[in-house]
Amino acid sequence: MNQKILIVGGVAGGASAAARLRRLNEDAEIILFEKGEYISFANCGLPYHVSKVISQRQQLLVQTVESMKNRFNIDIRVKNEVLKINRQNKEVTVLNHLTGETYTENYNILLLSPGASPIHPNLPGIEHPNIFSLRNMTDMDNIISAVEQSTKGEAVIIGGGFIGIEMAENLHQLGFKISLVDLADQLMLNLDREMAAIIHNQVRQKGISLYLKNSVTEFKQKGDFITVVLQNGEKINANIVILAIGINPSTQLAKEAGLELGMKGTIKVDSCFRTSDPDIYAVGDAIETVDFLTGKPAWLPLAGPANRQGRLVADIIFGHKTTYTGVQGTSIAKIFDLNVASTGKNERSLQNEGTKYFASFTHTNSHAGYYPGSTPLTIKLLFAENGKILGAQVIGRNGVDKRIDVLATALRLGATVQDLSSLELAYAPPFSSAKDPVNIAGYVAGNILQGDLNIIHWNQLNSLDPASSVILDVREKAELEMGYIPGAVNIPLGQLRKRIAELPKNKEIIIYCQVGLRGYIASRILMQKGFSKVKNLSGGFKTWQSIATDLNYQIAYPNHKEKKTENLAEKQVAASQNLIKANRYQLDACGLQCPGPIIQVSKKMENLAEGDILEVLVTDPGFSSDIQAWCDRTGHVLLSSTQAGNKFSVQIQKQSRTVAQSNNNAIELPEDKTIVVFSGDLDKAIASFIIANGAVSMGRKVTMFFTFCGLNILRKPQKVKACKSLLDKMFGMMMPRGSKRLGLSKMNMLGIGPKMIRYVMNNKNIESLESLIGMAKLAGIRLVACQMSMDVMGITKEELIEGIEIGGVATYLAAAETSNVNLFI
Ligand code: FAD
Repeated sequence: MNQKILIVGGVAGGASAAARLRRLNEDAEIILFEKGEYISFANCGLPYHVSKVISQRQQLLVQTVESMKNRFNIDIRVKNEVLKINRQNKEVTVLNHLTGETYTENYNILLLSPGASPIHPNLPGIEHPNIFSLRNMTDMDNIISAVEQSTKGEAVIIGGGFIGIEMAENLHQLGFKISLVDLADQLMLNLDREMAAIIHNQVRQKGISLYLKNSVTEFKQKGDFITVVLQNGEKINANIVILAIGINPSTQLAKEAGLELGMKGTIKVDSCFRTSDPDIYAVGDAIETVDFLTGKPAWLPLAGPANRQGRLVADIIFGHKTTYTGVQGTSIAKIFDLNVASTGKNERSLQNEGTKYFASFTHTNSHAGYYPGSTPLTIKLLFAENGKILGAQVIGRNGVDKRIDVLATALRLGATVQDLSSLELAYAPPFSSAKDPVNIAGYVAGNILQGDLNIIHWNQLNSLDPASSVILDVREKAELEMGYIPGAVNIPLGQLRKRIAELPKNKEIIIYCQVGLRGYIASRILMQKGFSKVKNLSGGFKTWQSIATDLNYQIAYPNHKEKKTENLAEKQVAASQNLIKANRYQLDACGLQCPGPIIQVSKKMENLAEGDILEVLVTDPGFSSDIQAWCDRTGHVLLSSTQAGNKFSVQIQKQSRTVAQSNNNAIELPEDKTIVVFSGDLDKAIASFIIANGAVSMGRKVTMFFTFCGLNILRKPQKVKACKSLLDKMFGMMMPRGSKRLGLSKMNMLGIGPKMIRYVMNNKNIESLESLIGMAKLAGIRLVACQMSMDVMGITKEELIEGIEIGGVATYLAAAETSNVNLFI
């Protein structure tokens, strides 16, 4: 006997099932009911036709009724709504909206793929005709006609998930001013907070106003506008409102038929999509499936699963021995210039499940940096103690889709992070690097598991105790101009081995660089040199900065924002007067990733004359905000910053800090401190360094000027070969060599006094003089050795410890001029 199969719903799940059923069985009677006007349309493409990125409406109709009928010999009944299922009689009641007639149709097998419907909250004013949801072609047509009546108007999008953000982007493209409201403290809940921060920064950069942790309480008609009233009392006017706060599974029919329901009102099915009635199957947005990783119930209303389920259920209906293994939540979206993807678990879901996990961040290039068009790519991996991949999130401009697909496949096949390191992935410069970003993510995660690398995450920095930890920035000096973590001290990686003695071994050392790689190398150096408490900031400054920017942290100095805008406007006016006569220079830093471009800019600017203009071309998208911070701190003027495709172009005019300061009307009171260290006594040396370190911890700049006997504090303890006269040699022998040999000013007692004082200081947990010197250097205190005293006492530069500046009285006086405290010890 031929089977009679009825299908409810003619889009993703329903249409896929219908086509596959026919391919498997030429004789079955297949009737497909669709209450709407169209079948098999591309709902995922709807937002893109609003902006005409998909130019033809026709392109969205993947299959028409005619073409599907002809190709598959299926009885397709659009505008026919199934109203009721009579399970006893195995028949459905259908309303034909075209004729108004109601009829029944019996079945051997019934397949439900009714999808979901947008949530429509019961808020005052919600019935306004310009408040829309987007689910089907008709919704899209209605939005388009409203858009055409209010071109370049204002739109409020409620809900920051996929559909909300896609609508924001497409309306923005049409010139609409966009406000995006979401109840959560972040957009895209599939992402973790710091990854969502990248999206927040991106959408804000595009001029979209974000209203997070906020909800709508009311809509009011105000002339041609709708006033959207938010929970916090704010009001936003809009020509159009898009409601995208989520969907509910369309399961009224199933519920009324008495089928068993699952989470959130979905239809419960087994691994063969069979409902509680063995003759009724269900697929798509309407069903509860299982989480592939945990085996627990899950609901994943996405097109990929719906389409695959539609195909699979047809196989099962016609006797194939196969089952559905569940969903893992792989998704991707385009958000302006970024592509954002995730698979598997995020931190929130792992915490809710009580699963122990580790996380790693890597920032790499999408392909070889030297080949044009490479852009940064951020990968976050979540993995278990045994290395098993639990989840991944990827954000970037290029190459996001292939990386998430590799990671999603690896997760599905039960791979570990170690497996990622050994994946042999396709490589040539236009496509990847010899070590693909996925390999690198695997290396970093593997290092964490092996204990080669201890990491700390951005959200753990706030709980650090400054008394027992040091934050060490191992980036180059020029990079600091783009911002740094408050309280951090700087020793560039290249100097770390030489200056290792400056770091206290008894404290926890938190290292960071721009993206984590140099931090890892620095960690390895310190760990092998006996530092037991070393941690590398995962994702480096880049990850920290994006979340800090998002959370509006003050990165470089207080009142950062206000200062930035005021100064920029003033500087630009001043600079514009000289623009015409300025010499122009070009710098192509495309393909370089941070800090490459900023270091190149810094070097190039050194050789330019006052007023010259440097035009820089880069592909690193972070550069536009980096260069702003760099100009703010160096005094140069950022004249313009533009983007064309994947390239960014900025123009900077050289302006020395003094000119920049004189252009700034604000009078800055001196706040620095200078200390002349004249004495070579241990107690006085300790006192001067304690004062200096105290002042610097209060945010003041400190210069210590060492002269005559004070120079002995700065001498190296070991003998250094130096070409000296006899008199100079004698002087050198008579004076103490370095901090450890200094005597006390009183009660020296042939060297017993200094030993006693060091013993007491140690017992009372007071830092030693050597450690105070190290801390001073780390904190950026200028230690200046008096050139004249060195000449007099026959001390050469080689005899002084690392990190000492040699200067004359002018150096000291210049520092004293900007100081309000000047001590002579
Ligand atoms: P649907 O495709 O919604 O089809 C259900 C159909 O059943 C509907 O046409 C409905 O009219 C019909 N129906 C319901 N009840 C009855 C009844 N009683 N009688 C007759 N007919 C009935 N997913 C992604 O993975 N990626 C994306 O980029 C993406 N973008 C999207 C963008 C938009 C704007 C929308 C709306 C969705 C998007 N989705 C995306 C989600 C994806 O479209 C859905 O997950 C998928 O279509 C679900 O398939 P389905 O068959 O379960 O339901």
